[in-house]
Amino acid sequence: MTVEYSVRVGIDADFVMTINGASVAGTNVSDVFNPATRAVIAQVPVASRSDLDQAVDAARAAFTNWSSVPLSERQAIVAAIGDRLEAHAEDFIALLTTEQGKPRAMAEWEVYGSVAWFREIAKQSLPEEVVEDTPERRVVSRHTPLGVVGAIVPWNFPILLAVWKIAPALVAGNTIIVKPSPFTPLCDLKLVELVQDLLPPGVLSALSGDDELGKWMTAHDSIAKIAFTGSTDTGKHVMRSAAGTLKRITLELGGNDPAIVLGDVDPKKIAPQLFWAAFQNNAQFCNAAKRVYIHDSVYDVVRDELVAYARTVVVGNGANPETQLGPIQNEPQYHKVAEYFDDCAESGYTFALGGSIDRAAEGWFVPVTIVDNPPEDSRLVAEEPFGPILPLLRWTDEDDVVARANDTLWGLGATVWGADLEAVERIGKRLEAGTVWLNEVHQYSPHQVFGGHKQSGIGAENSLHGLAEYTNHQTITLNKVTGAVS
Ligand code: NAD
Repeated sequence: MTVEYSVRVGIDADFVMTINGASVAGTNVSDVFNPATRAVIAQVPVASRSDLDQAVDAARAAFTNWSSVPLSERQAIVAAIGDRLEAHAEDFIALLTTEQGKPRAMAEWEVYGSVAWFREIAKQSLPEEVVEDTPERRVVSRHTPLGVVGAIVPWNFPILLAVWKIAPALVAGNTIIVKPSPFTPLCDLKLVELVQDLLPPGVLSALSGDDELGKWMTAHDSIAKIAFTGSTDTGKHVMRSAAGTLKRITLELGGNDPAIVLGDVDPKKIAPQLFWAAFQNNAQFCNAAKRVYIHDSVYDVVRDELVAYARTVVVGNGANPETQLGPIQNEPQYHKVAEYFDDCAESGYTFALGGSIDRAAEGWFVPVTIVDNPPEDSRLVAEEPFGPILPLLRWTDEDDVVARANDTLWGLGATVWGADLEAVERIGKRLEAGTVWLNEVHQYSPHQVFGGHKQSGIGAENSLHGLAEYTNHQTITLNKVTGAVS
């Protein structure tokens, strides 16, 4: 079927699964939409149970050799995958915008970020640690790969969050099967297809499918680990299902990140930073600032500056060069976000900006919306809307704002903004979150550990801690004196 993005060198219009190094069309297909137009742009296979079994069998067979390929060769291949992605970056940027909705600047950030991730993770290793070395005994602690990894990916950063799993899994010596979100499968299917010649068959496979495929993967006897990014609710299903085979799991889940703004900020300067902290990627961002606590002394002026800045931001089809924020990525999410608009309106909260959805719009668009000081227990403050509707809240007392910021089941990220760096750091260290950014936000690195506290996740991605999650610990002891040797 024809797709509406421009077809360039290296990316053709067929989207296939990759199983054991071969392209597989599958028997059933599902539609993929452009969220800016609601038009069907492509069809992808829906993997069957037998497709999964074949991919797992191939991945198991490939594991024996792949895990014994010298580390330096595996690292070189992972870096080469990054080079291949870079060579096709323009294609992926266009495709990502078309299937996900994000504008070009964000698509560039994601694609070039993914290139950097492949290259940097390719430099990582987990050397053996000599725990004891005496004339009598040698004790070594080492890492061994797990086997077949299943990667389950969401729709907000479809490429990057797949790469966060593919790169460390391969460097550590595992084989891996990627399942993209049914809403954004195109870039991941293409990426996996495009790098097959760099890898032995079966080492890296991709299966598109629905949520059933995710369930089969988490219960599969021969998958050793699930690396999952998605919502907290689904994460709990994954954990329950993985318990049946005691799979290793990494869960990167939802968040309700607080931003705390001190009274000494420059309102004009802080407004754009707060705006992008909250609305980047159209607020479909696990680490979006989802509750902004502004000190009472500057609340009104910061709110007004934020609203003024927000009015300058262009929302539209990501394919248009002037667009800064795109649509909601998919229809179920659009309806979910709309519920928060309705709830705020029905509850009589004050909209400082926006609030009314044009339901006849061509795509799944909702306006940038700012809600003025809703109750702390409102759905908007207590839940994760995952769309561009943001509550602003007043605070006066430091202990109180820290308690309110921490009063959530989530603990993914948090930010603190202010001129008094001592106060900023003091407050930051009191926050229960995996990443606390002080006077900045959304700074990630392949060498910086990332993971959630509380119900935002289990385990971590990135850094050597993330790499270690793709390995078993193994201790080898050698008694040089006693034993079978006469
Ligand atoms: P989701 O949980 O609905 O889906 C995520 C993936 O899980 C998809 O591939 C989906 O097909 C699959 N899935 C669905 N049901 C499954 C099941 N029962 N078993 C196994 N797999 C199943 O999440 P989403 O809507 O795609 O993504 C948005 C959510 O992801 C938000 O909550 C957001 O905060 C979170 N997120 C977290 C991070 C992080 O790093 N912590 C990053 C991005 C997004």
